[in-house]
Amino acid sequence: NKPQKSLGVALVGLGSYSTYQLAPALQDTEYCHLAAVVTGTPEKARTWSSRYNIGEEHIYNYENFDAIKDDEGVDIVYVVLPNSMHAEFTIRAAKAGKHVICEKPMAMSVAECDTMMEACEQAGVKLAVGYRLHSEPFTKEVKRLVRDKTYGKLRYISADAAYISRGNPDQWRLNRELSGGGALMNMGVYSIQSIIYGSGENPISVSAQEFSTRPEYFKQTDETITAQFELPSGAVGQMMTSHNVRANRLYASCDSGWYELDPASTYIPLAGRTSDGPMNFEQESQQKLQMDDFAKHILEGTPNVAPGEMGKRDMVIVEAIYKSIAEGGKTIPL
Ligand code: NDP
Repeated sequence: NKPQKSLGVALVGLGSYSTYQLAPALQDTEYCHLAAVVTGTPEKARTWSSRYNIGEEHIYNYENFDAIKDDEGVDIVYVVLPNSMHAEFTIRAAKAGKHVICEKPMAMSVAECDTMMEACEQAGVKLAVGYRLHSEPFTKEVKRLVRDKTYGKLRYISADAAYISRGNPDQWRLNRELSGGGALMNMGVYSIQSIIYGSGENPISVSAQEFSTRPEYFKQTDETITAQFELPSGAVGQMMTSHNVRANRLYASCDSGWYELDPASTYIPLAGRTSDGPMNFEQESQQKLQMDDFAKHILEGTPNVAPGEMGKRDMVIVEAIYKSIAEGGKTIPL
């Protein structure tokens, strides 16, 4: 059955994720559609307007963004900006009375997450983090295996999320002021997410190490980080994240079997196996599933699968990892 209403989405920041993933996905979504854009680049305003048939009255820049308050075509603001701008635009969107999806990592700090959640609560709007995997079938299957304890007691879980960065050394991801950190802020949040949904537990402590082999390129941000987690059940967690390694995997070993996703967090098709054999699921756009899930949450009260609280929880762990590294690998309670 067709949804009664489709919510209007405004994409804020027309970079590569908006261009190649979110906007195409919004052509297929059932519960929401692309209604407006916010960009600092006038040239993009023109191309997007004609490509997606967006009227001039639905095009904003970072200065006049607050006028979106009066745009009845917009229900959801999707913040797809460099990390340092997430808090500001989430808060401005909330003040404009719009629901918000904010890209990962949620913010630069736990303190920023708090102000964002507070602003959304005060405005009575919903807040989600752009954690698309919670709507993705292989990941949902892992969560089911965890819930059902299909393979018995978990003993060990590992999660790697990494790629090799060789591009423009001036990109915002390598600039601490804009990114808040390197591999850990960018890919590490996927490892943290995997550890948590792959175990169904929140870690109680972490210790971490940082490795640097190309300091001339990674001048301001972390290159490779490993971290070990203690989970409340006694299981051990291990993560790696890097801008200098190619890896993307979740693996969990339980008393009577194991499960694995490899790749575990890319948006090219995921693949999964268990000790019983391969997982088979239809591949659909993860972003389509994610945005429809959030719109359904607003329209029908279905669960918010990636709420602000989850983004904040992960930032608590990010901060603990950086603290552990600064203190020579000391174990930090969570
Ligand atoms: P890009 O660099 O490709 O795009 C960022 C856009 O932000 C720019 O194109 C620009 O858009 C706008 N912008 C405004 N101010 C600045 C600035 N000072 N420097 C650079 N850009 C600026 O980044 P991505 O699209 O890859 O990433 C955006 C966000 O989305 C990040 O938080 C990232 O972590 C997240 N992301 C999430 C993914 C996921 O799978 N969930 C995947 C990829 C990214 P304009 O010209 O329109 O103003």
